[in-house]
Amino acid sequence: MSFSKASVRDAEVAGRRVLVRVDFNVPLDGGRVADDTRIRAALPTIELLRERGAALVLVSHLGRPKGKPDPALSMRPVGERLAELLGAEVQQAPTVIGGDVETMAGGLGPGDVLLLENVRFEPGEAENDPKLAGALAELADLYVNDAFGAAHRAHASTEGVAHFLQGYAGLLLEREVTVLTRVVESPARPLVVVLGGAKVSDKVRVIERFLEIANRVLIGGAMCFSFFRAQGIGTGNSLVEEEGVKLAAEALERAEKSSCELMLPVDLVLGESFDAATERREIDDVEVPDGWMGLDVGAKTARAYAEAIGAAGTVLWNGPMGAFELEPFATGTRAVAEAVAATPGTTVVGGGDSVAALQQFGLAEKVDWLSTGGGASLELLEGKKLPGVEALLDA
Ligand code: ADP
Ligand code: MG
Repeated sequence: MSFSKASVRDAEVAGRRVLVRVDFNVPLDGGRVADDTRIRAALPTIELLRERGAALVLVSHLGRPKGKPDPALSMRPVGERLAELLGAEVQQAPTVIGGDVETMAGGLGPGDVLLLENVRFEPGEAENDPKLAGALAELADLYVNDAFGAAHRAHASTEGVAHFLQGYAGLLLEREVTVLTRVVESPARPLVVVLGGAKVSDKVRVIERFLEIANRVLIGGAMCFSFFRAQGIGTGNSLVEEEGVKLAAEALERAEKSSCELMLPVDLVLGESFDAATERREIDDVEVPDGWMGLDVGAKTARAYAEAIGAAGTVLWNGPMGAFELEPFATGTRAVAEAVAATPGTTVVGGGDSVAALQQFGLAEKVDWLSTGGGASLELLEGKKLPGVEALLDA
């Protein structure tokens, strides 16, 4: 299946005002943008629209201001960084909607860029209030959604506004949906899915879906302890999610009947506490003694996982293999990252921490696609429809 929504590439934008929902939800540090990856990811759409003579009204959320203005979450530092990246002026609106903003939007000429304030300053955003959606729509002639990371939420700026203006997919959103859809619908085989990280409950539906689609599912990270607990194996002080144990038991049952191979760690690295200076101990099995916690997969596991990844036609990786932020427990995650970087197969990595791990190891460039949307990519992979995509015009 190819992408079924109308693309910004096919929109008539010259001389028109375009409201563009972007995902500028970036980390801030002392009033500056600490990581501009998400701003850079939106540049192709912004540049395409400017080149084609559109006037741009950009809107995004930043953090969780809970429906009221919070100066610490103003878009101002984001606008400053965007101006540097574009090499052009970015006008900054004092609010999200209102008379002043309408005046500023009305004064925009071709190529001009206006950035609205943090849309979550408005209570109507999360409530998907048609009044807010309508007021945003008043600012423009058409709508482009490039905020893949927010597309799983039916908010006023991601979904509601598309009921007032014709909506087109931005280049980033289109690419994200296309790449992730291909992983589930027509992957080069074998398809190997590597899942780790902390929360089983967030990812178990993805595990279940891939037990039907993938050739191998490799489990690591804290997630594996919910599986071990479900198998009656001792987990010591390892991070185990109670709700996750039941879900893991169901996944194990499903795996029995599936032709997909579910791989779990066969050895572990333990620590006494979640701390880089803690005592470190390698064990040759997965039974965690009392007083210890599993903080990384062991060397044998890492080798087996790297081999499976190396033989894959497609690899999807979401979630680190261990507490990679602590150097003594980064080995398993590094091994997986290196295998993903080196495999000739198509590689797709999602999840904020997994992407951060790749960057930490200097391997981010070697991956075919780094997804910018954690929650949105998981929901898409689960097979859910994303409201921010559904609301757009069909191609
Ligand atoms: P992503 O952001 O890539 O989706 P998650 O947010 O699900 O990944 O999980 C990342 C977190 O999981 C990291 O902070 C890491 O320290 C933690 N983690 C991984 N393995 C373990 C473990 N065995 N014990 C405790 N925490 C772990
Ligand atoms: Mg995370």
